[in-house]
This record gives sequence, structure tokens and C-alpha cells, in this order.
Amino acid sequence: MAQALLSIGSNVGDSAALLRGVRDAFGTQVLGASSLYRTPPWGVLDQPDFFNAALLISVDDTPEQLLLRCQELEAQANRVREQRWGPRTLDVDIIQMHVDGEEVRSEDPHLTLPHPRAHLRAFVLLPWLEIQPDATLGGRRIADVLAEVDREGIERVEPL
Ligand code: AMP
Repeated sequence: MAQALLSIGSNVGDSAALLRGVRDAFGTQVLGASSLYRTPPWGVLDQPDFFNAALLISVDDTPEQLLLRCQELEAQANRVREQRWGPRTLDVDIIQMHVDGEEVRSEDPHLTLPHPRAHLRAFVLLPWLEIQPDATLGGRRIADVLAEVDREGIERVEPL
């Protein structure tokens, strides 16, 4: 039995629908879903806002199997985009995973766990904090990690 924290994001097209599609695909395996958050673009301003959410799921998969499921969801979203509404994006990242209560650690570039940039990203930490306030990352409570990250402009939009 495994538990995983997924960060899901989209910045083109009907992002809320794409993110809800990921939640629905995991169905009864979803233990918790954060609100939908919006991050305005920065740097290059003429690109769409980013939408992000976090999902806590319970699965029987190995880390590799879960990564394949995440990539399949990305691929499905891309296929739908190409056929119907033009280019869109969906990213599904595994941020942290526990198998039989043990945190999975991997430095394999194909699947790095915990996700190597999670501690830098308010759009990962803020939704995660909402659904798992006692979680730790790198031995620190995620609220403390978040306190050191720029969260300018990220706002909660609505329930996922
Ligand atoms: P990107 O779509 O740019 O986020 O990158 C996807 C690539 O990151 C894929 O080749 C994955 O194999 C790799 N990857 C490494 N660690 C992870 C992780 N924790 N979650 C999702 N993808 C990962």
C-alpha cells in the first residue's frame, strides 16, 4: 500500500477541467484534493495564468507504475487537446511517495523522489499544506519550507 502527493498543473485551455479530470481519474483513491490555485505569469507576461492543485492519493502501485499512470494522464490530455481545442498543457508530478509507511527516496533522473524542486515552489507547497498540514519535506514541516519561498501572486480560486 502506498500514498503519494501529486502536484498537478495546467496553463493552457480549460485548466480547471483538465485538473479535475486528473482527480476524477484517481476516483476513490483520492484521499484529499486541494483547492484550485492560480499563479499569474511572471517574466513573460503574455502567457496564460497557471492553475495548480495537489492530490493526496492511496494506491497499490510501485513508484514506477504510478509515474506511468501520471504520464498516461498527461498523454491523454495532450491527445484531446490536439484533436479538439489546440495546444494545451497538463503536468502531473509525483512530489512525495510513501510505500508501506516508508518514504521513497530516489535520485534517478527518470523518477526523482522527493521531487527535487518541490521545496522551491509555492504553487506546490501551498496546495499541499492545505490537505496535509503535518507533512514534512527534507525533514522540515512544509509550512516552514513555504515560509522561505516567494508566494507573491498565488491565490486560491475555488474548490477543485
Ligand atoms: P516535466 O514534464 O518537464 O515535468 O518532466 C517530466 C520528466 O521528469 C519525465 O521524463 C519524468 O521521468 C521525469 N521525472 C523525474 N522525477 C519525477 C517526478 N518526481 N515526478 C514526475 N516526473 C518526474
